[in-house]
Amino acid sequence: MTALNRAGWRPEMNAVGGADDNVTFTGNRALMLEEALIFEIGSTETTGVDFDETAPAADFGALARTAPIGLPGLSESETVRHYTRLSRQNYAIDLGLFPLGSCTMKHNPRLNEKVARMSGFADAHPLQPQETVQGAYAVIHELAEWLITLTGMHSVAMSPKAGAHGELCGILCIKAALEARGEDRRVILVPESAHGTNPATAAFAGFTVEDIPATEAGRVNLEALKARLGPDVAGVMITNPNTCGLFERDMKAISDAVHAVGGYVYCDGANFNAIVGRVRPGDLGVDAMHINLHKTFSTPHGGGGPGSGPVVLSEALAPFAPLPFVTKQGDGFRLIEEESAGEDHPQTFGRMTAFHGQMGMFTRALTYILSHGADGLKQVAEDAVLNANYVLRSLEGVLDAPFAASGPCMHEALFSDKGLAEGFSTLDIAKGLIDEGYHPMTVYFPLVVHGAMLVEPTETESKAALDQFIGALRSIAMRAKNGDPALKSAPHFAPRGRLDETLAARKPVLAWED
Ligand SMILES: *Cc1c(COP(=O)(O)O)cnc(C)c1O
Repeated sequence: MTALNRAGWRPEMNAVGGADDNVTFTGNRALMLEEALIFEIGSTETTGVDFDETAPAADFGALARTAPIGLPGLSESETVRHYTRLSRQNYAIDLGLFPLGSCTMKHNPRLNEKVARMSGFADAHPLQPQETVQGAYAVIHELAEWLITLTGMHSVAMSPKAGAHGELCGILCIKAALEARGEDRRVILVPESAHGTNPATAAFAGFTVEDIPATEAGRVNLEALKARLGPDVAGVMITNPNTCGLFERDMKAISDAVHAVGGYVYCDGANFNAIVGRVRPGDLGVDAMHINLHKTFSTPHGGGGPGSGPVVLSEALAPFAPLPFVTKQGDGFRLIEEESAGEDHPQTFGRMTAFHGQMGMFTRALTYILSHGADGLKQVAEDAVLNANYVLRSLEGVLDAPFAASGPCMHEALFSDKGLAEGFSTLDIAKGLIDEGYHPMTVYFPLVVHGAMLVEPTETESKAALDQFIGALRSIAMRAKNGDPALKSAPHFAPRGRLDETLAARKPVLAWED
């Protein structure tokens, strides 16, 4: 057989109505191209590159290979086609609405990309002499000023490289502040409505995590929180707006109570896009909060990166911020990198990253901020909230919306699996959405709701786009309520149907074996 034989693939694998229907010779269906593993396409007997037979063997010593390496041999065009075909089986923000709650999958303006690719930014090296990268430092500094202004905080650590990394930065600042006070407080309180990274961060930093229950209305139970406060409490970590898509209205009262017992307030600000320009967390008594540049201020993300999670800090925590950081000096900027530069920042907890942070994300985020302006950013929050409420109110009649009675939601709408037909679940609805050409919404998170479905449309979707999504979700919800058996085996039109995701996660097959 030739290299084009897709060994191991059988047409029945993606047949719709049974093995005999819709079968093509190639396995392709018009523009939906079937693709085998690269090892199945390329033979280990051939190579896409011509090496000179007489080339002298390099002297690798004991590291020299003794057996064939078993890599598939493909030409350049075969390789390009393989990966391009695979890329077409994926969903992307440039293909359609990406309703993943808690992820803020908004449109990434191309202007951001253009600026990030300007050679002065894109080609700068972190080890260049400081006087040659003053422009890059100016970008970091200007972005930092915007973040401080928008949040009403004292200062900002720019280097953390993602939201969870920012959480760790904030918690390490709290730990350093407590050590400086000579106090050994071990407990961080985390409400049920917090993002999962919050308890993980606190535990990773060596704290003991204790849950605070939510109210019926999906918010932190202030009385329960107050009752638990004491001299062993280092602080709280509160996601606001929370993962139920609700604003924590008691935030100021929570901060006051925590401060009164000597603790610190960490706010997970990944959902800042719902309140930017409307609320300044500094006014609510927050001591540390990360901002996901890759959510609130656009910048592409997904598939594991890249992100950027600057942490704004209160005056109390600012002295403990990590190195390195940029400061303005006269007309120029200086990078404070050395712990030995003690006089500059003697109480720093140390360093989290090798260099200054995600430069590409900084340029994109600053471009986004400058192209919106202060008034435009406020409108971002308002439109994101409006769109989420449109989704919530359009679907609350067909899907159970547990907190719909507590008033408007923020940037995301939360539904539960209550009322689906016997044997039907949130998973069936998610899989049905794939057939409708959508990436599923976030499912089974947050945990406070049974069979949660969390939809975040973001502000960049038009009413027409929302109406189509709502129509699709309503149709699937009705099928799940009426017990349509076909939904149990959805997706039918995707390259692969239902996979055993648990098995794939528990026993991943990561190596190709002949
Ligand atoms: C996305 C998110 C995080 C984690 O951010 P990463 O950049 O993925 O590490 C934390 N909290 C909330 C509320 C989030 O939405």
